[in-house]
Formats: sequence, structure tokens, C-alpha cells
Amino acid sequence: MRILVTGAAGFLGSHLAERLLLEGHRVIGVDNFSSGQPRNIELLSKHAEFRFVEADAAEPLAIEGSLDWVMHFASPASPPRYLKMPLQTLRVNGEGTRHLLELALAKGAKFFLASTSEVYGDPLVHPQPETYWGNVNPIGPRAIYDEAKRYAETLTVAYQQAQGVSTRIIRIFNTYGPRMDAEDGRVVTNFINQALRGQPLTIYGDGSQTRSFQYVDDLIEGIRRLMEVEYHLPVNLGNPEEYTMLELAQLIQELVGSKLPLVYQPLPQDDPRQRRPDISRAKALLGWEPRVPVREGLARTIAYFRE
Ligand code: NAD
Ligand code: UDP
Repeated sequence: MRILVTGAAGFLGSHLAERLLLEGHRVIGVDNFSSGQPRNIELLSKHAEFRFVEADAAEPLAIEGSLDWVMHFASPASPPRYLKMPLQTLRVNGEGTRHLLELALAKGAKFFLASTSEVYGDPLVHPQPETYWGNVNPIGPRAIYDEAKRYAETLTVAYQQAQGVSTRIIRIFNTYGPRMDAEDGRVVTNFINQALRGQPLTIYGDGSQTRSFQYVDDLIEGIRRLMEVEYHLPVNLGNPEEYTMLELAQLIQELVGSKLPLVYQPLPQDDPRQRRPDISRAKALLGWEPRVPVREGLARTIAYFRE
């Protein structure tokens, strides 16, 4: 297949592109390096069937030739990053999603949207099934990301229903692994790099808020399986193992072999209190569930950052 992947210089886009290339597909990667890393493109460029287009995915893309899939992964993903790029985040998920759906329509390609568990906002239902509509503050600081992804989902559903584009939507829960950017400000990279540098670990709030952490290989396997079925409603992909941020800090300290102090910093506004995926849909539809336990995935990620 010939597959367009936006966000190919990023953490998830580069893993996805690599997996597709290893399977023998042709991949066109698109990125503007706003939060991605040139070395990920260098790595992908070792594959003969990889092409790179440096471009803003919020603008229409002129792609020659046929396409089988348009896979939209371009967007800042870490809260500090998207808070620094509010308008770009809205544009790449709003206008970008629309242009890419138009591209898929014009090429007769299928369309794949990387949505997020953030569509559930600060959830009042726990764990979160796909049928939950969420609890999002439309004018809060996180809205530029949460509402943009919700609109991207709406666009995707509308193009499927009104134009017959074959679409897929995944709601990705906190995913980590090698090739994350050490400076992106997400909790896993912060804790690991603080522990490796011998710095105190920064706990926002009292550390009792929870997240569920999925290793990247499990996510990519879920994506590949969803590409093989014709299913248009959103699918949660995440690891239901749930930790408080204090538990995560302790686990990372144990795996790094350090005992550093914790420093408490203010909890960001609208920071979700709890998050855990209900993955019944992915299990039934795809026969999928995460295989990499958090302890093992973190150990692999720590080994990557040590290097
Ligand atoms: P990332 O920041 O590592 O990768 C995003 C990539 O998109 C970067 O390479 C960046 O340069 C590129 N990009 C951003 N705006 C662009 C634009 N306008 N034009 C071209 N390229 C642009 O983040 P990631 O973790 O790999 O996230 C990838 C996708 O998955 C995002 O859509 C994100 O919202 C979604 N997601 C990720 C997670 C997670 O836990 N990693 C969770 C939920 C959803
Ligand atoms: N967090 C923290 N210390 C950090 C970075 C983040 O305690 O150094 C908290 C953050 O407040 C949130 C959780 O960890 O409750 C996950 O944050 P992240 O930015 O990784 O992703 P989110 O799920 O909030 O988008």
C-alpha cells in the first residue's frame, strides 16, 4: 500500500511509519518539526520506500499518485507544547483534518484519525467507554487540544456518513516509549529524565490524580488491527493499568535505582483527576489487548533514555 502519515517526525508517527515500512508498504511522511525530531526522519529515510515532505499539515497538501491511506497523527500532544501553540493546535486538528479528509476523498483512500482520551475531559464516568460523551471545559486552557480533537472526530464521522469515506478513529490513552522527546514535558519523560539526571521529581498537585500508561508497541499493534476491519466508530486504545502520579514516581525511582526527593508544584487548571480506558470494544472487535506491562515498558524506555 501507499500510505501518507502526518506527524512522521514525532513519537507515534515515526513508530507507525517504521512498522508500515517493515511490512513492505510505501510511506510518505509529512511533518513541520514543530514538536518532532529530525533524527526520526533520518531513521525512516534508511528505508528505500520512505519519502519525506516538510510541510504544515494544516494546509492542503499536493500529493501526486495514488494513496491507500491518509493517517493523521500531526498535532502537538504534550500539554506544555500545545499550550505554547494554541492556534497551530486548533488549525492542524481542525482545518488539517478537513483538508486530509478531502485528500482521502479525492484519492479514494481510507482515513485514520489519531484522536485522544482527552475527548473525555475530566471524566465523571470511570473507566471511560467510547459511549461516554465526556466532561470538557470548552474555554479552559486544555480546550485548544480537547475541543479540536472532538471537532476532528465530528468531521471524520461527517465525511464517512455524507461522503462515504472509509474512516477509523482511535482514542489514544497516555502512550510512552523510546523516541519520545525528553523535553516535551509529559509526566513519563519528566520523571525518567529527572531521575536519570539526579534531579527531584516534579509532582503536580498532590499526586493523587491517575493515568493509565500504554507502551507504544501495543498501540501500533492496535492501529494495524483496526486498519484491517471496516469499523467507523471510535475505538479506545490504552492500557487499563492505572497509577497515581505518586505511584508512577515511586515505580520510576525503583527502576532507575534512585531515591530522589519529590517537589510539589501547582496542579494545572482542568487537569483530569482520573483516567483509565474501558477497552472492551477493542478486545471484541480486534482481539487486541496490551501485552507489555507498565513495569517492563518503563524499563525499556529508561534504557533508551540512558543511551
Ligand atoms: P509528537 O509531538 O511526538 O508528534 C507529533 C508530530 O506532529 C511532531 O513531529 C510534530 O512536529 C508534528 N506536527 C505538529 N503540528 C504539525 C503541523 N501543523 N504540520 C505538520 N506536522 C505537525 O506527539 P505524539 O505523542 O507522537 O502524538 C501523535 C498524535 O497522537 C497526535 O495527534 C496526538 O494528539 C495523538 N495522541 C498521542 C498520545 C500520547 O500519549 N502519545 C495520546 C493521545 C493522542
Ligand atoms: N504531571 C506531574 N509532573 C510532571 C508532569 C506531569 O505530576 O512533571 C502530571 C500532570 O499534572 C497530569 C499527569 O501527570 O496529572 C499526566 O500528565 P501528562 O502531561 O503526561 O499528560 P496528560 O494526561 O495530562 O495529557
